[in-house]
Amino acid sequence: MPNHKRNRFVVQMHQASHLHYDLRLEVDGVLASWAIPKGPSLAVGKPRLAVHVDNHPLSYRDFEGIIPAGHYGAGRVIVWDRGTYRATPGDEPSKAIAKGKFTFDLRGEKLHGRFTLLKIHRRPNESDEPWLLLKDRDDAADARFDPANFPESVKTGRRIDEL
Ligand code: MN
Repeated sequence: MPNHKRNRFVVQMHQASHLHYDLRLEVDGVLASWAIPKGPSLAVGKPRLAVHVDNHPLSYRDFEGIIPAGHYGAGRVIVWDRGTYRATPGDEPSKAIAKGKFTFDLRGEKLHGRFTLLKIHRRPNESDEPWLLLKDRDDAADARFDPANFPESVKTGRRIDEL
């Protein structure tokens, strides 16, 4: 049964050893997750590397704070964007992700419109699972969008260095 209902998503800005953004989509009760070094873009034709990482529990979507030194992901996290997404008609999120191509519409506070996550081939000896996050062409596309211009948490208004 195709799942066209709206599920939640979050993007957390994560200042760990390197600053990155974690896109997390609610799928079957967990958060399917991708780490995006340069952050999401609304520009068509500017694919962003999105490394598929472990699912996170749904409760993690509200997490904002400091992960202590010595723990996985140690560093600062803010809720950079959140809202809902909807799979394109005919796509069931879990199946589309398993196949390596998933197109969905985001309705967030900063991010809007249609995106595609596309699994790409990994290089020999590469342990990560690289995907691309692509903005599809629509009214929400914005060639000038830069995530760094929107540094505040949508949960608390804080910037990551204000935690
Ligand atoms: Mn992370």
